[in-house]
Amino acid sequence: MQAAVVEQFGKPLVVAELTVPTPGPGQILVKTEACGVCHTDLHAANGDWPLKPTLPFTPGHEGIGIVTALGAGVTAVKEGDRVGVPWLYSACGHCEYCLSARETVCADAQFGGYTRNGGFAEYMIGDPNYVAHIPAKLSAREAAPLICAGITSYKGIKETQARPGEWVVISGVGGLGHLGIQYAKAMGLHVCAVDIDNGKLDHAKKMGADALVNAKLGDPADAVKKITGGGAHGVLITAPSLGAFKQGVDMTRKCGTCVLVGIPPGEFPTPLFEVVANCITIRGSFVGTRRDMAEALSFAADGKVKADIELQPLSAINKVFERLARGDVPSRVVLDFSKR
Ligand code: NAD
Ligand code: ZN
Ligand code: ZN
Repeated sequence: MQAAVVEQFGKPLVVAELTVPTPGPGQILVKTEACGVCHTDLHAANGDWPLKPTLPFTPGHEGIGIVTALGAGVTAVKEGDRVGVPWLYSACGHCEYCLSARETVCADAQFGGYTRNGGFAEYMIGDPNYVAHIPAKLSAREAAPLICAGITSYKGIKETQARPGEWVVISGVGGLGHLGIQYAKAMGLHVCAVDIDNGKLDHAKKMGADALVNAKLGDPADAVKKITGGGAHGVLITAPSLGAFKQGVDMTRKCGTCVLVGIPPGEFPTPLFEVVANCITIRGSFVGTRRDMAEALSFAADGKVKADIELQPLSAINKVFERLARGDVPSRVVLDFSKR
């Protein structure tokens, strides 16, 4: 099978011919139909984060495909099912977090395309207890961005605790943000989109944003405060850029919540007095649980959210990464395995 492999951090991926893996007990083999390319894959290939994957590895955590073989003892899926192998590849199932539906922070969690080989390959191994079940109404390519960009932005918006009729800011209108705008609208929120690129902001308008702010022009927090009458009730920062984080906190309304999901390497300054005196919550959010996955997919199956996708073959992966690094991907590239 063909797979795009990270052999060294910061170097182009190598498209290699690998042996199709055999599912062990409790595992399944999935023939990949489509896999989205997330900015996280770029962080992974660059070795950006403190926890680094072991080289060599195959990235990709938005892989969707058909179950073609079952390892011993598998009952949760059957051959022929369409599933997605997500970032939350598996978890222990019995720690305090797993037992309280917070399995994304399980200490034994494995991550697709990071600690386990992922979807930039013609076949993937998955854990049947953690795969996404793709609704019949969605094609593989439509579903791909939803199993990371979709679930992460949807869960992040829920974590802001903004209520229908209130304002949310979606900072960063890329893969996550273009879906976040649609989820927020479907959830009855007013949406102010923030990006540094006017093309992305035009796109945000098409996705349903009520107001647009270019963070490169003037102070974006002032602009958001003017639009929202004092700051957004919820702020979701998807931008892979440290500068967006303090700005996001500054955009948050008194008693509001600023949810961090973008993960550029590094730290950001927090205006301590303002955060304390305004009772602002700053909260991290990491993909979503299996329940969040089912919810995020059902919005799409109901036609309320639709990923905007550009199809590319696996062989184009290095060009796609270069564009993603430059901010030059309009929303989501999906690798289409029906093409070579
Ligand atoms: P993307 O490259 O598709 O989109 C990023 C967008 O941010 C682009 O539109 C870019 O123009 C915009 N941007 C850049 N700098 C900005 C700034 N200063 N202010 C406002 N906008 C700015 O990336 P993506 O695939 O949407 O991923 C975004 C980030 O989210 C990455 O860091 C990724 O690792 C992270 N991520 C986190 C989780 C999680 O579970 N927390 C899940 C998926 C992705
Ligand atoms: Zn992702
Ligand atoms: Zn656990």
